Amino acid sequence: MAATKLEGVRKILVVEDDPFLSDIYNTKLKQTGFDVDLAMTGEECLQKLATNKYDLMVLDIVLPQVDGWEILSRVREMRQQKTNPNVEGLKIIILSNLGQKEEIKKGLDLGANGFMIKAHFTPSEVAQEINKALGATG
Ligand SMILES: [Mg+2]
Repeated sequence: MAATKLEGVRKILVVEDDPFLSDIYNTKLKQTGFDVDLAMTGEECLQKLATNKYDLMVLDIVLPQVDGWEILSRVREMRQQKTNPNVEGLKIIILSNLGQKEEIKKGLDLGANGFMIKAHFTPSEVAQEINKALGATG
């Protein structure tokens, strides 16, 4: 049974509008053993969060239309108003080219569990950080 096979496999949503980067993270995270889903826009991300439950979301900030800040605000609102059980235990790691002190603070204040600057981490290191973030609560 396929469902049994996937038991215990962590589901990761990668929100990244750059197809090249998206592909790299997808490949690396699958190699690491994660079940990976991709969203190329903020809209797509919100649609996926409405219908799927993920263990962790890797979130870009600069996205067309609905950006990462907006997504963080919406997720926080869903949590406060308890309108989407899918986001209850969702871990969020921002993976962005932004990285000014104020931006990092803003991300964490909006509910992200971590903030990684793209240029500072290889895809393998991103996978390690995801493992760490998920391991923290089992
Ligand atoms: Mg982007």
